[in-house]
Amino acid sequence: VGTRAALATWFEPRRSLYPWRGERDPYRVLVSEVMLQQTQAGRVVPAYRSFLERFPDVAALAAASRADVLRAWAGLGYNRRALALWRAAGEVVRTHGGPLPAEPAVLQGLPGIGPYTAAAVASIAFGRPLPALDTNVRRVVARTRLGSEAHEVSTGRVLQAAGSWLDRADPGGWNQAVMDLGREVCRPAPRCDACPLARWCRYRLAGRRPSSPPRHRPSDPFEGSTRQARGRVVAGLRTRRSGTLASVAVGAGLSLDRAAEVVRVLVADGLVAAGPAALAGRANGRVRLP
Ligand code: SF4
Repeated sequence: VGTRAALATWFEPRRSLYPWRGERDPYRVLVSEVMLQQTQAGRVVPAYRSFLERFPDVAALAAASRADVLRAWAGLGYNRRALALWRAAGEVVRTHGGPLPAEPAVLQGLPGIGPYTAAAVASIAFGRPLPALDTNVRRVVARTRLGSEAHEVSTGRVLQAAGSWLDRADPGGWNQAVMDLGREVCRPAPRCDACPLARWCRYRLAGRRPSSPPRHRPSDPFEGSTRQARGRVVAGLRTRRSGTLASVAVGAGLSLDRAAEVVRVLVADGLVAAGPAALAGRANGRVRLP
């Protein structure tokens, strides 16, 4: 009980930090959770507001065109998330007849929604007592409750420890508070001096420290450059709607061959539409948002 109260007090001023905090509408919660995957909160704020202005509910998103959704996703990157969200909205309207389902198992059956997002939406919007385990939450729970690093214990044990620690009166607030704590305080190199849980934390009480400075794994440079190229091609098409493969290549700073290669991947993902000439790498082939 002490740890829950200490965490809630620490989280209190953070409850109104972002526009999605305090939000209980399931669709809005889902939009914020999908945007927050892989994008920093500060960059999500303006995109979240304009996206919801454009698509205020799940029916509006389901009725939108793919191109409109991709345009509204500008500035967030990882465009596949936008398409998954759009497909999820379509499936919700077609299969469930409108509002987002509350059952985590059903949520998880929707495109782009994994166990973490399903638990986040179910707990924040529907008050379901479920821990949403992302990397940050895993780390905090493993340290505080089990006195271990997350990689030293099984996911099942972390899940069980999180489930028994969870604040059943406010599971959504608890999930967001633990997440924030993991991002700001209980980082890979923990700042125990500033931690509201320090009095109770088994990891700290056992005198543990990370065994070696947390390694920053360099990302795969090829994957990085491919992702960048994909982002630039979609960004160019957002403003020009359509163009020749040559103009897309010039706009994205790519060779014609490389642009064709990137366009083929984007077509396979459903992010871009292209005629056979563009797919064959011909300069005058047409490319557009779907
Ligand atoms: S006391 Fe230190 S290790 Fe424990 S939860 Fe707080 S920051 Fe993490």
